[in-house]
Amino acid sequence: MKVIASISEMTRFSEAIRKKDQSIAFVPTMGFLHAGHLALMTKAKECADHLVVSIFVNPAQFGPNEDFSTYPRALEKDLEKCREIGASAIFTPSDDQMYPSGYETYVTLERLPFHLCGLSRPDFFRGVATVVTKLFNIVRPHTAVFGEKDFQQLTVIRRLVKDLNLDIDIVGVPIVREPDGLAMSSRNKYLSETQRPHALLLHRCLEAAENSVKQGETDPGNILAQATDILAAGPEDMRVDYLSVCDPDTLEAVAVIQEKTLMAMAVWLGKTRLIDNRLLVP
Ligand code: AMP
Repeated sequence: MKVIASISEMTRFSEAIRKKDQSIAFVPTMGFLHAGHLALMTKAKECADHLVVSIFVNPAQFGPNEDFSTYPRALEKDLEKCREIGASAIFTPSDDQMYPSGYETYVTLERLPFHLCGLSRPDFFRGVATVVTKLFNIVRPHTAVFGEKDFQQLTVIRRLVKDLNLDIDIVGVPIVREPDGLAMSSRNKYLSETQRPHALLLHRCLEAAENSVKQGETDPGNILAQATDILAAGPEDMRVDYLSVCDPDTLEAVAVIQEKTLMAMAVWLGKTRLIDNRLLVP
């Protein structure tokens, strides 16, 4: 497994693979890898001859008061996990290489960022779309694999690949959860022992919503009220960022649950922001 820090070396590595008529599947991550990331890598390995993983905590997607400097990092352990899974290369560029002095070009979308996470994180999807476009140009994959845990991010990437005519297959992987249902996330590390059980309330909201819809509930207002009731059992420092019942393609709120509908949520537990989602199928 090659550990590559330089952009030009990464591109040379990929070009050599392409010249041999072999394929590359790419998994972009911010590191501190857990079983969710490993599921993406396993899927990617099934899709191509070579797996390339990037580990880059992208400063452009963090707001000024967010956790860029404290985001958990564990490069050596991450490399070990990638080695075990059989990755061909790990790309670990520096901030300065990705955003050298004078950098001023960003990729923005007109509509998708103005929903869900984008409402409280106004620059987040600009940062994500920019770094993913740059990584695609550097790594030159045939396939790229993303988690449904970040459903809006996956929607944004699918849109940008289509809109910019990028010749890359985008593959989504279902959310990997802890045995008790909490969606795995690098940020779960921030949760204290007393906060950890309360984090389960998100999963409980989604399960309740799923059951209600299965039993014939079609009114998003009732689904949202049920979730609000469930979250009311949480501690004082639990605060809803958003709860949404929306169209999974446009992310716009729906008036009636008639077909596959996304329930998505973000909740603050103290200083930790947790997200989760589920597709509700009537
Ligand atoms: P991150 O390192 O948090 O930027 O995530 C890198 C990739 O892993 C993204 O495509 C995420 O959606 C995906 N991912 C993170 N957590 C999970 C999870 N619990 N299940 C599935 N995919 C995940």
